Order: sequence, then C-alpha cells, then structure tokens
Amino acid sequence: MTTKYIFFTGGVVSSVGKGVTAAAVGRLLKERGFNVIVQKLDPYINVDPGTMSPYQHGEVFVLDDGAETDLDLGHYERFIDIRLNRLCNVTTGQVYAEVISKERRGDYLGGTIQVIPHITNEIKRRIGALAKNTSVDIVLIEVGGTVGDIEGQPFLEALRQLRSDIGRENTVYVHVTWLPYIGATGELKTKPTQHSVRELRSIGISPDVIVARSDMPIDDGLRDKIAQFCDVEKRAVIPMETTPILYEVPLLLEKAGVADYLLQRLGLQARRTPNWSSWERLVEEVRRDKPVVKVALVGKYVELHDAYMSVREALKHAALHLGVELDLAWVHSTELEKDRSWDELRQADGVVVPGGFGSRGIEGKIMAARYARQEKVPYLGLCLGMQLMVIEFARYALNSDEANSTEFDRTTPYPVIDLMAEQRQISDMGGTMRLGLYPCCLKPGTIAAGAYQVEQVEERHRHRFELNNDFRILLESRGMRFSGVSPDDKLVEIAELSEHPFMLGTQFHPEFLSRPNRPHPLFTAFLQAVCQRAGIATDHKPVIEEAS
Ligand code: GLN
Repeated sequence: MTTKYIFFTGGVVSSVGKGVTAAAVGRLLKERGFNVIVQKLDPYINVDPGTMSPYQHGEVFVLDDGAETDLDLGHYERFIDIRLNRLCNVTTGQVYAEVISKERRGDYLGGTIQVIPHITNEIKRRIGALAKNTSVDIVLIEVGGTVGDIEGQPFLEALRQLRSDIGRENTVYVHVTWLPYIGATGELKTKPTQHSVRELRSIGISPDVIVARSDMPIDDGLRDKIAQFCDVEKRAVIPMETTPILYEVPLLLEKAGVADYLLQRLGLQARRTPNWSSWERLVEEVRRDKPVVKVALVGKYVELHDAYMSVREALKHAALHLGVELDLAWVHSTELEKDRSWDELRQADGVVVPGGFGSRGIEGKIMAARYARQEKVPYLGLCLGMQLMVIEFARYALNSDEANSTEFDRTTPYPVIDLMAEQRQISDMGGTMRLGLYPCCLKPGTIAAGAYQVEQVEERHRHRFELNNDFRILLESRGMRFSGVSPDDKLVEIAELSEHPFMLGTQFHPEFLSRPNRPHPLFTAFLQAVCQRAGIATDHKPVIEEAS
C-alpha cells in the first residue's frame, strides 16, 4: 500500500493541544488496524531541544535510540503505545546543519543554496526517510508553532509540495485552531480561524479538516459557519471542547467521526473495528470518586508543569491502576532551602525528586531526601533524584556535609557522584550525554526486582554523571543496595535503602516508558508504598493492557 500522510498544522494560538490531537488521531487509526508513526517538525533553530531550558521548552523527551525530542513525542508514544525513533523529530537546526555540511563537502558545487529548493528538499527527504525506514501505513506529521510564524514557512512549503509529489488521494491536511470566547457577549468567535485558514490558503494549502478547539461547547451553527467560510465539509469541522481528562480525547474524536472521515479521504477501509473498552474503563476510572493520595514533587521548574510532563503522567497512570486519585503538590526546592514550603512536603505521603541539571535548588532536594529517609516517607528519585538520594545517604554515612556530585562541587573530598569516564573529554553540550536505552540487571530479593518481576530491563537514560564506584562498598555497608546495575557491573542504575519502606532512585528515566494502560512497575510500587503510608487499601482491579 502507498504510504498515506496526515499533516497537522496549528492556527490562531499555540498550546491548544495540536500534539494531543495528532496523538489521539494516531490511536484512532491504530485501533482500525493500521500501522502508524508520528513525526514532529519543529521550526526552531536548535538542533534538538536537549540544550534548551525547560522554562523555554518544557520536558525533553528521550527515545530508545537516545534522541532528545519535543515533549509531544511523549504524547504520541503514550496515546498510540508505540516506540518512536530519531527520525520522528525534525528541527530547522538539523535541516540547515545537513544542507550546510553538504554545501561544504561540495555536493552542490556551482549552485546557490536557497530555502526553496534546498531546504524544502531536505525537509521532504526527512519526511520520506521515516516511511522508508519503517513499514507503516500512515505517517502523521505535526508542524510546531502556528501558521504565520516566519520560521515555519519552509516546513509548510514542503508540505504543500508533498501533495503534488505524492498525490491528493494520499494526503490530508488537518488544521487545529482555537475559538476564543467573548465573555461580554457570551459567544465563541470563528474570525481568527477564518483568518488562519486564509493565511494557510495563501501559501497554497487548503485544509481538509478543521479541528476547532474551545473552552465552551461549539454549537451546530458555528460548525456551519466554519464549514462555509473555510470551505470544508461540515462533517470535517470537528468541535473539540476542552476536557480535563487528557485520555478522553481519543474517545471524543472517535465520537466526532474524524477517523472515518480521514480514511474516506485517503481511500482506506478500516481493517478492524476499534475496541475502546479499555480506554473507556480508563476514563470511567478517572471520573470515579477515589481516595486521594498526596505526593510532593520537589523540583526547580515546578512553576511550569510541562517541565515534568512524563513524570506527572507516569504518576497518574500508577494512581489510576491502584484506584486512587493523585494530588500532586509542586514543591520548589529553593523554598525548602529558605525554610518555606515544608508543610506542603510534610502533608504528602510520598516524595518524588525528578531529573535536573545545575546547582540551583540542589540542597533543597537533598533536604527533601533527608526528610524522606529519616521519616521513612516513600521516596522515588529519578536520575538527578537518585544522585541526590545517594549524596544525602553518603553525607549521613560519612558524617560529612562535603559529600557531593562533582557537577555541583568540583573539589569535594567525597565525590560520590562523578562524571562518567567517557564524558571527561567531551566539550560539546548537545547530544553528548549517555542517552537512550541501556540494559539493567536486577538483583533478586530487592524492591526493584520485586516491582519489575524480571531479571533484566531496558530503560532510557539522559545523564553525564554516575555513582562513583569507589564509594560502593562504604554505602553498601551502611544499608544502601545497588539493586540494578549495568550487565558489566560498572554502572549503578538503581539504588535503594534496605531499612526503609520505599526509598529508591534510578539513574534512568522510567517515566518515559509508562503508558496509561500499562503503568511503569516502579511508579506503581512507589505509589503502593505511598498508599500504605496513607492507610489506603489498594486492592483495585487494574486497567492493564499487554504491550501492542
Ligand atoms: N545532572 C545529572 C547528570 O547529568 C542528572 C541528569 C538528569 O537528571 N537527567 O548526570
């Protein structure tokens, strides 16, 4: 079968859920028996988001092959339950870097290198490469930003050309827009949508489907109006009112008939009838009144919840599985240093310290780890959170506050966390960490092995520093167990405390592999310990699915 393409562009404003819409559409198609993959085209000039502050960009989502990507790829993986690869996130930076290096090599000798055709050809090559390297039926492509952004233009031009390159019958353009609500008159406005569609048409793309997002119900008259002004069929105007339940989006799009319309446009027949029973159960479960458990997330980007997107989702997945409602308290680690926000921390029955870089707020996180160890509060440390748990324990074991990571104190006499040997010579910051999937062997009889129920796992990494093996014997002698190590035993991947109900840290990021219907075993085990402390029974029927 010819590969089919569905393109998603955004209109009016960003952050209206274009990524979630693309992810949910991917799920609708997968439910009909198609193999799908999703690619995000990001118009910024960074080669990848790995070097960007989470304040700028939110979380960096890491793939199996170590690609550092946009957080929308997390939505795609979670909604569709797929594993994506490096080709799935293209940036302007990558495109230009490639074209310029070809120019330096002399590949275009004699030519003047221009946005059209050189840049647009490189964009199309990267789109084509994805279909060539994966046997998929349908490729979904999301363009970051909104139509009208200067930097997005080469991408839109490439998409325009693709329609004639690969045929009208093989391509559909979906435009996701926003209908603002005017409080004074109590109505939703379609004018910005009309304008953004006009803008899109002016560059030669006529959308086939309009997903109209709004915070209010969208009535039939508005759909008529959008259909008429934007020249799309009425049934291709998909009203999408904001839902507080993220995982309801595929069900809402299903109800709106979007998949059937897309398949018809692409000349495809569904290969099987979608089975939404487990998603419906999931959404019912979200709606059900459940006992509340409070978990504190101690980080330094807590004002921006997107910075910890996958961690929050993984906690939610585990909570759903255990039949409890997660109340996540966002605690700023620098506040703890100033003797503030401690009540927030104390009211929680579990502490999560997620990943991070740089020294700001480090001591506050170490204080949170100390509190969790001393008060026997369940603690889950993710990457940096594991390193800080080790530092805190070493300070106690060595009876010295000087134990540290060389990331924060280069001259510490006790560098319990240190730069990995292969990281010492590296000077480039981008894409040079220990990235992606690595195997981890689990020690029988530990909390980690009990949670995973297997001997070996593979998890995604993103770090430069590691536990310094010179301190392993000392830490072990005081009650720290290294329950997960690399197959050659050179790298500690999981540390846990034996004299504690649940104090465990992972050098990797388990949050990236959690799925709504298949929560990550370490998150489930952590939350189980949290529930136990809170006195909540967790004999709930799980909503677990096999990997597909
Ligand atoms: N900054 C630490 C390191 O580089 C932890 C990284 C992280 O949490 N992702 O090792």
